[in-house]
Amino acid sequence: MPGPSARDGDQQQGLPGSSARDGNRQQSMPEPGARYGNEQGTPGTVTRNGEKQPSRRDTDDSRIRAKLPILTPYFYRKFPIRPPVQGCAYTGALMVATQVTDAVTISHGPRSCAHMNRHYLYSGAHRALTRYRVALPEKLDPALVSTDLDENAMVHGGGERLTETLRQVLTGRPPAAFVVTTCPAGLIGDELAGAIARAQPVSPETRVIPMEVDGNLTGGYSEGWLEACRRIATDLIDPARRPEDDAVNLIGESNYGHTEHNYRRMEELLGALDVRVNTRFIQRATVSSLQGFCRGGFNLLAHGGFANRRLADFLTERFGAVFAEETLPIGFDKTRRWLREIAGYFGRAKTIESATERVIAGLEREYRAGVDGMRDSLRGKRLMLLVSYETDVDWILETAFDCGMEVVRLAVMRLDGESDPRTRYADRVDTCFGYRPEQQIADIRQLKPDLLVSSFTRQGLPPLTRYDTFPTVPVVGPQANLELARRWRRLLRAPLEEGWKRDGRMMAGAVSQG
Ligand code: SF4
Repeated sequence: MPGPSARDGDQQQGLPGSSARDGNRQQSMPEPGARYGNEQGTPGTVTRNGEKQPSRRDTDDSRIRAKLPILTPYFYRKFPIRPPVQGCAYTGALMVATQVTDAVTISHGPRSCAHMNRHYLYSGAHRALTRYRVALPEKLDPALVSTDLDENAMVHGGGERLTETLRQVLTGRPPAAFVVTTCPAGLIGDELAGAIARAQPVSPETRVIPMEVDGNLTGGYSEGWLEACRRIATDLIDPARRPEDDAVNLIGESNYGHTEHNYRRMEELLGALDVRVNTRFIQRATVSSLQGFCRGGFNLLAHGGFANRRLADFLTERFGAVFAEETLPIGFDKTRRWLREIAGYFGRAKTIESATERVIAGLEREYRAGVDGMRDSLRGKRLMLLVSYETDVDWILETAFDCGMEVVRLAVMRLDGESDPRTRYADRVDTCFGYRPEQQIADIRQLKPDLLVSSFTRQGLPPLTRYDTFPTVPVVGPQANLELARRWRRLLRAPLEEGWKRDGRMMAGAVSQG
């Protein structure tokens, strides 16, 4: 499989194994916007804490000697020990390919792979429809065709099945077709180029783009997602298009949750600045919008997650894409910064400046009124945050600060090379890097938070506080703060232990006595 291996390998840096990562409480304050915790650390360089990181080579060697699993799923092809894979690369690639609304995706493999993933797409679309009243036809009924490999193909090869399926697809003359390979196709080693060449004469103008991710043989979900993005960018984007002075691209939006609601809200905000969205890379895109990607002179990354950062690097190196510093505007403060950065980039001086400040003033009124209504219920409540995957928790901290809450600890765990959390408030809260999960209960007893918010809630935690998780895809704008504050207010009204949990203990007691 082409693509991720070489560049992704560069991320295997600053790995655990150095004692420095554990228990570094109360770090000296980083600059605003500085990363905390999970510094990627150039090999052999000194980190923010002034400690020398081991070089990548040293770290890799020690892992191999100790037979420890690699903690990140993205590099295992380089190592003799295979770490756990999260999802499969086929699914990741399929989730990208099926977002191109006028293309057809061919799943090269057994029907079960296509069936499971079609169901996955459908269930997300069904939720969007019933919960958010957003219709996503490309997910409800994706243009997805399976080559339906069976036992016979597993023995004799699936090339003929692929050629035949491709010919059928190409009779519809779609502008593009993607061929995504599953584990079985990878295992039997079907060669795609020959099948594509045999079918191509049916529609010579269709761009047939192979995505040889081979199920989970080449990696997990994110690796497939990234590979599909790279293939589509390489094969479809026309680098000759010139940037237009009012156009931005949106990069790496989630494909679930509030995504469409957020997109519409951002369109409104951008519209107020006379800026428009050129290409969504990749949500509900068309082949021609992807070809015109370079018309968008400024690129807005949806979030700073691992795969998104790698995609941004790729688009920058390959197409000279310019990216905004701020990711999508979650919460009031970030929305303000995001709008000002975009206005500054397009720099149409007075008109855009005054429009921006007018929009911000409106958002601020909405935000202050909402927060004022909730402060009485939340003032003085003690909040602890336990971060593992999130890259941006500042809007959550701002919500707590503005509602008068006390943040008793910001604990940052480090699970793998994916997360890259940052904060502007390391001077304002007790921040603990390299947090060990087993510290959690002792901290709850000592710090007595009223609410603990984390990426996931472990089973069996004592009813000493209320537990909640971070929102997966928060809404854009001040509504993110306000929805969160409303949720906390509701949670804090509930007793520490809900009555139904006692039923379990009663039942357990009855069973043991019986
Ligand atoms: S892991 Fe392999 S077999 Fe399972 S859905 Fe993914 S491609 Fe298909």
